[in-house]
Amino acid sequence: MARKVLVLGEVRDGSLRNVSFEAIAAAKTISEGGEVVGVVAGKEVNGLAEALIQYGADRAVTVEHDSLEQYTSDGFSQALLAVIESENPEGIVLGHTALGKDLAPRIAGKMNSGLISDVTSLEEAGGNLVFTRPIYSGKAFEKKVITDGLIFVTIRPNNIESLEQDSGRTGEVTSLSVDIKNLRTIIKDVVRKASEGVDLSEAKVIIAGGRGVKSEEGFGPLKELADVLGGAVGASRGACDADYCDYSLQIGQTGKVVTPDLYIACGISGAIQHLAGMSNSKVIVAINKDPEANIFKVADYGIVGDLFEVLPLLTEEFKKLKV
Ligand code: FAD
Repeated sequence: MARKVLVLGEVRDGSLRNVSFEAIAAAKTISEGGEVVGVVAGKEVNGLAEALIQYGADRAVTVEHDSLEQYTSDGFSQALLAVIESENPEGIVLGHTALGKDLAPRIAGKMNSGLISDVTSLEEAGGNLVFTRPIYSGKAFEKKVITDGLIFVTIRPNNIESLEQDSGRTGEVTSLSVDIKNLRTIIKDVVRKASEGVDLSEAKVIIAGGRGVKSEEGFGPLKELADVLGGAVGASRGACDADYCDYSLQIGQTGKVVTPDLYIACGISGAIQHLAGMSNSKVIVAINKDPEANIFKVADYGIVGDLFEVLPLLTEEFKKLKV
């Protein structure tokens, strides 16, 4: 059944996040030959709509308003609900990001619709669209089917491959004027923690450190390897609790959930709460002094050794490959 599917593009620092393009790919499958409509909301976002089309959307709608400069639940739900009312879609896809996790249930609630969150894959089977999502902190997967009504999903970043960008692809871009009002939250200023390099939740390579890193300075060799591989540095809660790094780097049940192509765990024991955030990474390498460490049970490659000896060797070898 051909469907019209809306995708909300997520804007950060003036550009669309990769998960927006992954959402377009998911929407293509859901549309089953119907129409994919990209949506961008913000203060000055008209220039971004074309990118959604280049990644596969058939057309795009922009909503521009001064109050949409920063994300607020009230502002963005009014904007997206207005687009939904004007487009009347049969499907909606958002990223399972901080924004998507806040906005999607709110919209689903207002529309009296169901929502499948944190989808990691989708496929056609037996005439149905089957959505797979992890449950019990990634220890099991459930498969869900929507038999009736709106297909509303959020997709986990880094799991559904986006389509190739086609810079010659064109489509109609229209703007919708929305009267955003009665905002209960007004963002006066956003103070960002100084973040270095690649965004952890979208990184293809993550070098994560645990208590075995031993100090703030101990993260140095991890940063060097991350730089060479174009990756991001993450951490266990053990390292964060010990004040070796900021909690924004924490990966796990109560931290970020990541699925990079390559995850290198350094001096991390592999507690169940840490595995909940990284065990779905495509390739896991563990470096640990203790051959019995639990992390080796989920690792594709294990190196038993001192991370301060192993990491510089790896960095040197990867540097040679890059030359
Ligand atoms: P440790 O368990 O102390 O392991 C350190 C490892 O480093 C050891 O295996 C040791 O052999 C190795 N090592 C030491 N020196 C070296 C060296 N020189 N070279 C190589 N290896 C070395 N944890 C998370 O990570 N994320 C979460 O989101 C999270 N949420 C939690 C939620 C709850 C409700 C609870 C109760 C706990 C949570 N935890 C979480 C904590 C979790 O249970 C573990 O305590 C934590 O993950 C341990 O961190 P770690 O592996 O860095 O430290």
